[in-house]
Amino acid sequence: MNVKTIIDGAAKKVSGPAAKVNFGPTYWIAGTDQSISYCAKCIDKAVDVVKQGAEDPTQVEREGGWGSSESESPVFCEDCEGRLDYTLNTSGVKEELDHFEKAGINLEDEGQNFELERVLAGYDNVNEHTQRRIIKLAQKIIGE
Ligand SMILES: [Zn+2]
Repeated sequence: MNVKTIIDGAAKKVSGPAAKVNFGPTYWIAGTDQSISYCAKCIDKAVDVVKQGAEDPTQVEREGGWGSSESESPVFCEDCEGRLDYTLNTSGVKEELDHFEKAGINLEDEGQNFELERVLAGYDNVNEHTQRRIIKLAQKIIGE
């Protein structure tokens, strides 16, 4: 099997269960630590709290909501821990590979399918060494 067939086959296999996962767009608060993410339900409350303690409340506002954020790892809402949309950056792909190579994969778990989908999607953005690791993971997913 050529590489594209392996990656596409694995992506197709995880896409079904991954599509059942509930997730929303990522929001964060301008003027604060933007690595802290919130869901649509929690962002306004979080903005209100930060405004109350801010020297200049007009600088504190909600941002994001247009889709996925680029991340080192899966993203969850700071308040309710709901799953949020993300794409992995290069080091995020490597960290996820470290994780799945160590812990193994459980394709019964819809959340893992969602996370594996994002590792596979990173294939074109990483170096050859990391691509080889993704191919191995993809082979495991399709059961080769
Ligand atoms: Zn939330």
